[in-house]
Amino acid sequence: MKADILSREELQSILDTQWAGKEIVCLDVVDSTNTKAKELAEKGYPSGTLVVAQQQTAGKGRRGRGWESPAGSGIFMTLLLKPAIDPDHASMLTLVAALSVAKALAEITQADVKIKWPNDIVVNGKKICGILTEMSAQLNHINHIVIGIGINVHNEDFSEELRPVASSLLLECKKRFCRAEIIAKTLGYFETYYAEFLKTENLQILAADYNALLVNMHKNVRVLDPKEPFEGTAAGITENGELIVDTLESRKLVSSGEVSVRGIYGYAE
Ligand code: ATP
Repeated sequence: MKADILSREELQSILDTQWAGKEIVCLDVVDSTNTKAKELAEKGYPSGTLVVAQQQTAGKGRRGRGWESPAGSGIFMTLLLKPAIDPDHASMLTLVAALSVAKALAEITQADVKIKWPNDIVVNGKKICGILTEMSAQLNHINHIVIGIGINVHNEDFSEELRPVASSLLLECKKRFCRAEIIAKTLGYFETYYAEFLKTENLQILAADYNALLVNMHKNVRVLDPKEPFEGTAAGITENGELIVDTLESRKLVSSGEVSVRGIYGYAE
């Protein structure tokens, strides 16, 4: 393995992409890479700009939750996009990103890397990556989208609250992986899958690859719908990225937004 240097120069030297990460902003400490990427978008930075930090002081998760981001232990990065697509289709990009991270991690670590719908990456049932996609848009025009990706790489421990659900590549694989390589491979896959997504503006072409990695496929899940939680068997995603859940009564299509999905026995399975 190469030394785990995470600098702009190191990243540029191994990136093999057409546009993703052509502009890189590398920071020691930032509140949140998503917040920084949004600022850069407003300043006119181009689509494909990548923000990477060694540490986040206010890493963000969905619905106002936090992302534990200790110094030097993980990958904290955000990709800025300015796509000419229907804003209603943008939330699917978070699944495109999840597929890209999962493929990259599987290739590099050889571990059994899975996706927990819609966009968490799990190894051995523990969460090692979270993704937060945020958008600035008008009714039918996207100003910009930021896709934030946090990957636990070298973490040796987690807060008491996270310990039951979270893990890192080091803890699961007993190896130290090079963060720059993971970033480069993820962006490589993202370019390929993003091009496929743009052909149809949905996941028609990618659904089979995504479903092959879905940790809940054909398993029982509990859908934590704030209106009414329910249980059923997951049967993959639709071409719009909804999770198909068969209950005893009917087939339900679950959209991400307000919902979390859990395994019946634990966080993922
Ligand atoms: P779910 O609702 O299924 O937990 P989510 O996609 O809604 O997933 P995220 O927004 O991805 O959740 O992440 C925020 C949550 O992830 C936090 O509430 C916390 O439980 C957990 N978390 C925070 N930091 C980390 C970390 N470094 N590694 C793993 N999990 C974390």
